[in-house]
Amino acid sequence: MDKKQLLFDGNEKRVFATDDPDKVIIRYKDVTLAYNSIKRARFDGKGVLTNKISAILLGYLNENGIKTHFLETVGDREQLCRKIDIIPVEVIWRKRIAGSLAARLGVEDGFLPGNTMVDLRYNNDELEDPFINRHHAVALGLANYDELEKMITSARIAGTLLENLLHRAGIELVDMKLEFGRATDNGELIISDEISPDTCRMWDEETGERLDKDRFRLDLSDVVASYQTVLDRLENLNLK
Ligand code: 5GP
Repeated sequence: MDKKQLLFDGNEKRVFATDDPDKVIIRYKDVTLAYNSIKRARFDGKGVLTNKISAILLGYLNENGIKTHFLETVGDREQLCRKIDIIPVEVIWRKRIAGSLAARLGVEDGFLPGNTMVDLRYNNDELEDPFINRHHAVALGLANYDELEKMITSARIAGTLLENLLHRAGIELVDMKLEFGRATDNGELIISDEISPDTCRMWDEETGERLDKDRFRLDLSDVVASYQTVLDRLENLNLK
């Protein structure tokens, strides 16, 4: 599939048109952002790793009944995806309470409750991605109740599937941010952003070491080496 004109030049990804109006090529950059883009850095090779990890995790969801935009990798840092109309709502699945939410709720970072949680955030940089509920999302015209219900159910199933998969690789899935969109070919609701250490918290089950973007947020170093560990362990599972 030939890469055509640039449709969108984002901070961490570029999106290109293809011969097919319902398919795009997404190119993963080496740039990393945190804290609503206030903190920014470039890590050589990061985009290759997030592309490959995302391809494995999105592919796994596709094969297990949760539809995503991912079709196939088409290069070291590119993948062919279904084109979508984005829904600007972040759906966050949480097994543990970590990061900013731990501070908000006054619990220790990594607190493990007896239930898994799903949060919604309005994906809006100017407002700093505020927490919202379903009623707010409907009021803002971002999605309807039925779509939001489906997004939350998908996030719960995807969370369980990926938690179990990563456990086989000795990695605990602590939390995960998902985004959804409506496929341009048939309108169906599908997961439509990467799933990688840039969008999840992933901890080494034995050592508790963070293998995700928190290494960058918290200035812990070895960002690329940690992402490489995640990829190596997933590849060792020989899923295909
Ligand atoms: P928190 O709510 O603790 O900030 O984030 C929960 C999880 O979602 C973390 O794994 C975090 O990396 C991810 N996440 C939340 N918001 C964003 C975002 O705007 N961009 C990215 N890449 N990940 C996010």
